[in-house]
Amino acid sequence: FNITHASYAATAVNSSQYPVGELTEIAFIGRSNVGKSSLINSLCRHNGLARTSGTPGKTQTINYFRLTGKLSDQSRLEFMLVDLPGYGYAKRAQSARATWSKFIEEYWLKSTRLKLVCQLIDLRHPPMESDINVYHWLIEHGLNVQVVATKADKISKSRIQQHIQVITQGINMGQLHPGGRIIPYSAVTNAGRDELLDVIKNILLK
Ligand code: GDP
Repeated sequence: FNITHASYAATAVNSSQYPVGELTEIAFIGRSNVGKSSLINSLCRHNGLARTSGTPGKTQTINYFRLTGKLSDQSRLEFMLVDLPGYGYAKRAQSARATWSKFIEEYWLKSTRLKLVCQLIDLRHPPMESDINVYHWLIEHGLNVQVVATKADKISKSRIQQHIQVITQGINMGQLHPGGRIIPYSAVTNAGRDELLDVIKNILLK
């Protein structure tokens, strides 16, 4: 399974702006600077498709990209990749944080075509409190979560599993999602790309 086409589709700041249609949605979320834009561009093999949100306080939007993937039998699958704003700016004022939550919560609760949430966590460090809170919230609300550990090229190969273990335990995945796996990913080497595409393909074929 590989992505053969990716293009910008829509931007929403509230639920009235969600694009109409039947396409299955796969969402991407993570702390600001976790490497979400880089991972989306790596997955789509399209530099500049997703752009980093940049400085805190910038307008928070949900961005939709229409993707086409081709299976080994040459048949095609279309779906929507949904890029959500980064969370966890430490210095954000309380009121802005409340707005963020409401805006994003609305997406989680109103998107009936959402089939998978890819939550990105930096492989180099133990998960932050915001990562843990977001993971728990998504699981509690019955969402299907695939944790992807970013910047894997910054950790030596022999230590990757150790870091994966720290994240697994930090978010309490053993209890909340027994049998779940974390995919180490590098947007620099594209390590983990095939594995993540395989997870997405299986969701789309379900
Ligand atoms: P976003 O804010 O989550 O969209 O993060 P970006 O994709 O803009 O990445 C934040 C920073 O991390 C940038 O300086 C990227 O070059 C760097 N980065 C992102 N992914 C990787 C990766 O897989 N490996 C390495 N070495 N750096 C990365």
